[in-house]
This record gives sequence, structure tokens and C-alpha cells, in this order.
Amino acid sequence: MLVTAIQKYSIHDGDGTRTTLFFKGCPLRCAWCHNPETQLFPPELLADREKCLGCGACAEACPRGAVAVREGAAHTDRAKCVACGACVEVCPANIRQIAGEEKTPEELLRECLKDRRFYENTGGGVTFSGGEALAGDIDGLERLARLLRREEIPLAVDTCGHVPWERFERMLPFRPLFLYDLKLASPEKHRRWTGVDGSLIRGNLCRLAEAGAVIDLRVPTIGGVNADDEEISAMARFLREAGVRPRRVHLLPYHGAGASKYARLGRPYGGAVFFRPDEATLERLAEIFRQSGFPDTRIGG
Ligand code: SF4
Ligand code: SF4
Repeated sequence: MLVTAIQKYSIHDGDGTRTTLFFKGCPLRCAWCHNPETQLFPPELLADREKCLGCGACAEACPRGAVAVREGAAHTDRAKCVACGACVEVCPANIRQIAGEEKTPEELLRECLKDRRFYENTGGGVTFSGGEALAGDIDGLERLARLLRREEIPLAVDTCGHVPWERFERMLPFRPLFLYDLKLASPEKHRRWTGVDGSLIRGNLCRLAEAGAVIDLRVPTIGGVNADDEEISAMARFLREAGVRPRRVHLLPYHGAGASKYARLGRPYGGAVFFRPDEATLERLAEIFRQSGFPDTRIGG
């Protein structure tokens, strides 16, 4: 299983204090994604050229000839890089890093068990996140879920919803809390901003609700994309008509925290057009959900 981060003491990824495991790979390409290092399935190199000393140690170490130093900074040819990590070892500035480390379910369990006391004291547990945890090694994920259940550690699954239903079915026996992202109701806008029309996401959400799963709905609320009455009303209408009754709805205001990662991955960031809605707008949008029959709608995670 490829993991990009193990985040301790998370308080926004489900109930209580949690350990959040970020798995690599996602089927969506949300234009605002703040974890772009989790989008592609294979491991990737991140390199902060701004802080480069220009020493050339990485170029010497690279077995693929992927690095050249020009104008005092290392430039990496992404087409040649295989994310072997040789340059990471030798960089004196510590500005090169591989996103995606292979871990077994047993190794991940051992890491989670270190935080057991926090789970017990706060009603927390472990959250599978990403990327899209359900899109990767589902056998490994199921095994980890089983190991956690054996330890009586509560599980949450943070999901974008765009995976075959069979993958949700593999998680249902562990009775996780699903943190389910709903981004847009309009198929055209959904395709424009995420790469897919959202029909699989909406269908899986309905099936999860029918299966009696506990669901916290999470709506990334993004100025320039969906932070308007029309789109939020359409989402609330869809939920009501489909009979989906989430435990809570969370509006998660846009933040540009991951923007700098794009440059470190050698990719362009299209996020300049997005903005955080002001507080009055957020409150108005939350009220649309509340008035639509979802009284426990909150701003924030
Ligand atoms: S990760 Fe490996 S292949 Fe990529 S630039 Fe570094 S040394 Fe070269
Ligand atoms: S080893 Fe690090 S500091 Fe030296 S050139 Fe490469 S990236 Fe820059």
C-alpha cells in the first residue's frame, strides 16, 4: 500500500482525535486539490527549486540522468525520473522528497496502535484518506480494516465516491463512518472541475444510504465553483429527493494551502481563480441545507 503521510492527532477527519492515513492515487482531478501529491498512483518526486543550493549532488546521484543544474538550481526532467529516491538521500538542503512509501497493513496498524490512548480518551480512531483510499490496494485496505476491528479501533473512510460499488461493499462489514465528498450537482460542472460527471458518486452515495451506512457529507465550498445558492440548492434537492439522510453536512471552505506543492511536483496550478467565500455567504449556504431538511449543517470539518 502506497502511503504519502500518516497524520497524527487529526481533529477534522471524523469523530475525536484520529490518525489519518493518506493513500496515494485518486481517480478524480479536482482543479482545487490541496493534496496533488496524492493524485497519481505511482510514487513521485517533490523538489523545492526555490530553496536549491545548486550544489549538483542530486545530478551526480541520479542514475537516470534526470537532473541538470542550470542558473544555480536543479531542474528535474519528469519524463526521465522514476522516483527512485537516490537524489533525496544526498541533497544537503533536504528539499527533495518522494511522495508514496510502501507500507504493509501490519506496519500501518503498528503505527496506529501508538495512538490508541488518544482514540480511547476522545472517541477517535483511524481514518483512511488520500488520494482516494478505496481506489488503491483494496485487499490491503480490507486487511487493515480487519486488523483495526480486531483491536476495536473505530474506522472512518474519507472518500470522493468515484470507485466501483464493490469497493464500498468491501468496507461495509467494518461499519465505518463515511466522510463522503459531494462537490457539485450539475454533471457538466462536475466534469469541468473534476474530470468526471459525478453520476457514479451520486449513485454510490444513494447505495450507501440504502445500506444504512453512517455518512457525514462534506461539501468543499469553493468561490468560483459551487459557492452559490443555485448549486448548493441543487445538491440539497438531490439529497432530499434521493432520500439520503447524512448524520451531518459539513461545508468545507476553500483554502489554497496546497498551492505550493504543484510547483514542487513540476505541475501548473489552476487555482488562482478560486477563493474562500466570505462568512456571510457560508452562513447563507449552510442555511440552505438546514432549511432543506439537514439541520446539523456546519461550517468547517
Ligand atoms: S528520484 Fe531518482 S530518478 Fe528521480 S531525479 Fe531523483 S535520483 Fe533521479
Ligand atoms: S542536491 Fe539539493 S541543493 Fe543540491 S542541487 Fe540538488 S536539489 Fe539543489
